[in-house]
Amino acid sequence: MPKIHLSCQYKYNGKSRTDLTPNQKKIKKKIISDFKNGVIKWEKNKCRCSANNDLIVANKDRLGFKLRIVLCKECGLVRADPRISEKDIGLFYEKYYRKLFTYGINEKIQEEILLNNFNGELKRGRDILFNFVKKHTPLTNGVVFDFGAGTGGMLKVFKDAGFETFGVDLNENYLDYGRKMGLNLKKGSIDELKSFHKKADLVIASHIIEHLHRIDIYLKKIWECLKDNGYLYVELPGIFNQRDFSEFFVIEHLYYFTLKNLKKILGENRFHFIAGNEIIRALFQKSSQKYNLKITKQHINDILVFFRIGDIPIPINGLNLIKNKKKLKNKIILITVSILYKTRFVNIIVQLKNIFLNLQLNKLYVFKLFLKQFFSYASPRINE
Ligand SMILES: [Zn+2]
Repeated sequence: MPKIHLSCQYKYNGKSRTDLTPNQKKIKKKIISDFKNGVIKWEKNKCRCSANNDLIVANKDRLGFKLRIVLCKECGLVRADPRISEKDIGLFYEKYYRKLFTYGINEKIQEEILLNNFNGELKRGRDILFNFVKKHTPLTNGVVFDFGAGTGGMLKVFKDAGFETFGVDLNENYLDYGRKMGLNLKKGSIDELKSFHKKADLVIASHIIEHLHRIDIYLKKIWECLKDNGYLYVELPGIFNQRDFSEFFVIEHLYYFTLKNLKKILGENRFHFIAGNEIIRALFQKSSQKYNLKITKQHINDILVFFRIGDIPIPINGLNLIKNKKKLKNKIILITVSILYKTRFVNIIVQLKNIFLNLQLNKLYVFKLFLKQFFSYASPRINE
């Protein structure tokens, strides 16, 4: 049995970290009953390094589902174990996942969600083009694939810059929206990219890899659909980019990464690291050789420190409390805590707490982390 390294914020209590609407509560109940009745099954998720040396770091997801998250002490990879079975994950996405966030929303709001999504993708697309492709590659034109294209906003940026673009996604609503914007999008998974009969200079995999049951097989497919020396851009929620973790562990994410963990897996699959950050946004290049990156004990400890950062209680529903309780004293307390939180002072307190309580951790590292948190105030956490 794995050992436990649970932070108080991840103990299972069935409660969601954020307020759920009545519709979301209804769907959550249905999902729980589907798990109970075996309509959606769990399966064992052995670490890809095949070691059996895990620490439990969480026992719940953000909506309050029972979900065990473990960290492999050998390779440092964080994963859900058990996870929703490969056979049933399609059913889960089809039947519940979108509904959980859009059910009961009228058409006008749906349209707004799609527009917001497209605009968000445009912004991220510009970041890829200007901060990664133009800075680190010689590409000025060529073929771009977006695997998990959504509404196609990222491709739009590349299309406007003179690239030839193709995208696949599973969500028909999103695809329709992108097609109206003049983009070449198809419904399907990565295998559908073959139907474009092209090889890519750049593949974008944005918020995909953390959902995959078979990461290595997909990376092999991406490797095969790239031209020699082609590029792979990966975006996913990084462990070291989290601040309060209240939304981090989710039932549909099977893996969680630091940049190093990601570099290790991609290196083993013949992708050479070019540039990246802990958000995570990273650029890799197709290579003919494998790269073996060793994950140190120190790195694994660093991850554990991060999982305990949120141990200090933070009133997430602070604004609701202000609305409900009109007492001036409550308002002042909550506004003060919000300001402290926004200015990262809470993080600093937590860091100090970690220094004093977790004596087994590398103190120099915690101190460095504390300084980093303090001075990174100018670059706030970026949401998905
Ligand atoms: Zn492992």
